[in-house]
Amino acid sequence: MVGATGFEPATPCSQSRCASRLRHAPILLEYSFAQNERNAENLRVDPLSLAKRLLEAGPICDPCLGRRFALLPGGLPNAERGALLRQALGFGPTLPERCWVCGGAFARVPFWAEKAAELAQGYEFRTFLFGVHLSPRLEATEEFLAEKFPSPWAEPLRRHLNRALGQAFEEVLRARGRTATVDYARPDLQFLVDIEKDKVELRVNPVVFYGRYRKLARGLAQTTWTCPHCRGRGCEVCGGTGKLAATSVEELVLPVFLEATGGTGGHLHGAGREDADARMLGRGRPFLLTVESPRRRAIDLAWVAEEVRRRSGGAVELLDLQPATPELEEKVKAGKFAKRYRARVAFSAPVEPEAFAQAVGSLVGEVRQRTPERVRHRRADLVRRRRVLSAQGRLLSPTEAELELTCESGLYVKELVSGDQGGTEPSLAGLLGVPAQVTELDVLDILDDAGVVPPEPAD
Ligand SMILES: [Zn+2]
Ligand SMILES: [Zn+2]
Repeated sequence: MVGATGFEPATPCSQSRCASRLRHAPILLEYSFAQNERNAENLRVDPLSLAKRLLEAGPICDPCLGRRFALLPGGLPNAERGALLRQALGFGPTLPERCWVCGGAFARVPFWAEKAAELAQGYEFRTFLFGVHLSPRLEATEEFLAEKFPSPWAEPLRRHLNRALGQAFEEVLRARGRTATVDYARPDLQFLVDIEKDKVELRVNPVVFYGRYRKLARGLAQTTWTCPHCRGRGCEVCGGTGKLAATSVEELVLPVFLEATGGTGGHLHGAGREDADARMLGRGRPFLLTVESPRRRAIDLAWVAEEVRRRSGGAVELLDLQPATPELEEKVKAGKFAKRYRARVAFSAPVEPEAFAQAVGSLVGEVRQRTPERVRHRRADLVRRRRVLSAQGRLLSPTEAELELTCESGLYVKELVSGDQGGTEPSLAGLLGVPAQVTELDVLDILDDAGVVPPEPAD
């Protein structure tokens, strides 16, 4: 059956039952009439006389005739229903190209489907969707029909055309040994048929991958860090490169994805970001990688991960690569996860072990933090409250320590240590009364999975 994959509502009858229904058409129409009696009464319509008026108004194709009765029970496609009515009323066949309702659009459907299949050549896809751009004349005809030939069972022209195009397209594909199904939510390919211009346009929707990246080198931004002074043209500040970090995770990862997919461009979207000088260890940070206009979608993700590792000299590793689902996309875009950090800290004066231990313990709890000076150019200047969920530390020497902290999303760790000249309260420096700076920062884990997130501490 044509369109079994999602266009025509599933026909509940077998071939033979359909045939017998055709033979018993008058009975069927009578039955349908009874079913819709109330509707029909409101509009003072009876199907046969409406069909007769439509046929008498001018040459009309079977799909357009049947469409005025699409919602009558019987499970027949519009074209068959139209043919049946024409026959029952004793009207002869008509040239579909001369249909006064669609202007021959339905006769043009096979051509457009063929055109679409041509455009789709060279693109891997499993799903598609058709849309039509109706001409002003067709819009006007739809209104005219509603006014002069009102029917409680009519289906809009646009919907019927979209479905007919999809069915014809599936047939063309099948003849070429390919299959694809319609998808209303996230089609791989989208075709727009401009009826007036007799043109078909193809839009290749992006493909999105999910994964987690580990960043094992320092000085690597997450995405291309365009120099704000020259906006990428190159200046003294950026040493003529146009960028403030030599390279980024995105710049190391994207080319490999483009090679695998044959896409034209794309971008990386991380679930939050770490500073360029911080490493991203552990299970890595969740991210989405979007590729525009991909020619291939089912790519060898193991190859991608291996190539990224090799080409970056081991600076970037990709884990857990997979096609993104709506759930994964939502997770990454929400992006507010607690994180576990390790920080190397330098003190500008010796620190006593007992005082250090006490200060570290006092970090746990709520922290008031004004937006740090260093990010104020791109973030609103405000005071936020975030919690330190756990804190441990050890002195490596009287002027050096290592901290392990679990913090809520959005807490600035460097300022939690330095105090940011009173901008962060409490802070390690403030509690000790000794200036302190983070010299090395690593993100040990992004606590994005339910069960891994530390429980809310009791008030
Ligand atoms: Zn027509
Ligand atoms: Zn610059």
